[in-house]
Amino acid sequence: MLALKIAATVHISVLGSFHPVQFELQPAKGQILVVESQGRTELVQAERTVPLTGPAKVAGRNGAMVHFLLGAPGVAPREYIGRLEVRRSGSELLAIVEMDRETAVAAIVEAEGAAGLPFEARKAQAVVTRSYLAGAHNRHQGFDFCDNEHCQLLKGLAHPAGAGSRAALETRGQVLVYKGEVIPAMYSANCGGHTKSLAQTKWEGAAIPQPGYPYFSVACPLRGKPSGHGVGMCQLGAITIAEHGYPAHIILGHYFPGTTVEAVAMAAPNTAAVGRSQISAVPTIHPPQVAGPVHAASAGRTMSPVHAANEALTASVGRGARAAQ
Ligand SMILES: [Zn+2]
Ligand SMILES: [Zn+2]
Repeated sequence: MLALKIAATVHISVLGSFHPVQFELQPAKGQILVVESQGRTELVQAERTVPLTGPAKVAGRNGAMVHFLLGAPGVAPREYIGRLEVRRSGSELLAIVEMDRETAVAAIVEAEGAAGLPFEARKAQAVVTRSYLAGAHNRHQGFDFCDNEHCQLLKGLAHPAGAGSRAALETRGQVLVYKGEVIPAMYSANCGGHTKSLAQTKWEGAAIPQPGYPYFSVACPLRGKPSGHGVGMCQLGAITIAEHGYPAHIILGHYFPGTTVEAVAMAAPNTAAVGRSQISAVPTIHPPQVAGPVHAASAGRTMSPVHAANEALTASVGRGARAAQ
């Protein structure tokens, strides 16, 4: 049996789309920040806001994760929990937050979905996001992901009682597995009626290395103008399936034939022991096409239970997370 483990934290560069040359840092209420910059260590607490104009490291006491707000001149501060490192990148500054993977999953699920989405679609998004974070690390030099559409959207901490946090919690540790490996699951906003296999795209997996998972073209209940690369889960289609009463594992089984949803323990840093338990084989709406030739799983099939889908669906989803563009 394979010992599947995924790292407990992920490094995400934040606010980079604002091209900051200075950050403004503030501790969250009741927090104390340990700020190291220019060879000095300073404690920052209470309502104080400190400017960061060069390389710096920020954590709680003893290097613990800490809750803080980070903004820039003209940029509203966003909340994060983690450890911050500020680096120079040309004439700009990069802010890289090392955060707990589940914190990141909740934040991304919240940022990727508009309010009022069906909860099962959120849960499917949470499993896809966790798989993507686990499987597609090091998308950038020196850190894993950015917080915009290049990688996936993340706009700061999810509200603890919000749908993003609940979806992360209810799917805690669950990832999509194919032939014993976590797949860096891709998704796009609207496939236009059929999702694409990797072979049908131009990049054939070059955008994100895939451990052998070919993706499949599956019928989607939603038609309309395609938006995004069309590989993996269709966000609007997932919403439609959820609106017809299907749970997250049916949505995942539909868009990722041949995979299973498995729960992996998060590895603590420098901890080797990680368990794995298979919690469910994902039922598929259609007979599974496991590991067949890619076009064997090709289009032309219908989604019987979902076929009467609401084509006029107008729910909006996050604009980011094309995960491979
Ligand atoms: Zn990126
Ligand atoms: Zn679709």
